[in-house]
Amino acid sequence: MESRYCQMVPMPSADKDARLSKLPAIALSLGADEAKIIDIEKVVVDKRVRLKCSVPICASYARNLMCPPNVISVEEFADTLSLYAKALILQVEADYDSTDKSESHLDRRICEELEESTKTREWQLKLHRIVNQLEAIAFKEGFRFAAGLIGGDCSLCPDCVVPHSGESCRRPFEARPSMEAMGIDVSKTCENAGLPLSLSSKRKVRWTGLVLLH
Ligand code: SF4
Repeated sequence: MESRYCQMVPMPSADKDARLSKLPAIALSLGADEAKIIDIEKVVVDKRVRLKCSVPICASYARNLMCPPNVISVEEFADTLSLYAKALILQVEADYDSTDKSESHLDRRICEELEESTKTREWQLKLHRIVNQLEAIAFKEGFRFAAGLIGGDCSLCPDCVVPHSGESCRRPFEARPSMEAMGIDVSKTCENAGLPLSLSSKRKVRWTGLVLLH
């Protein structure tokens, strides 16, 4: 049986187009630096992205409720994604670049120091907040399957709940997985959308999120 959230009357397509077209401007007003409506075919899913969560293993792998292997499989996400037609892609530009600031190969300590020095969490949370807001706005506009995806691990809590503790997510209505946790090739998707994403460069880091719409 459909849940009560899924029993809304479908929008006429002209009305739907008008509601879609105003979402990028709303995203900018909330603090995004770029926002576009894209066809879902531009969102690229690649199993190698999920592989990179564990090779080399990310500090959040199996330790964050919104990260692999605690989320749906890439195959399941790809199947679900194929049911959507449009998405809102958005970016937040941070105030630091992504050039290598270490003097040796990256290890956990260096990564943690870099995260601290570049205020990574601050920018992740900014994107997360905007994605949450846009998802809620889209839902109220009639996009009943609106689903937001963030960048990086869910950082709403300084430390996620202890794995296998049986403890539930502390902020279940706000916690969201990242695009990359779902297996989305963020770099290729940004390229398809005509948005910049320069890794290991002197250009400012751009955190990218997505709201699946309909
Ligand atoms: S909201 Fe907190 S407990 Fe829930 S997934 Fe995010 S970090 Fe973990």
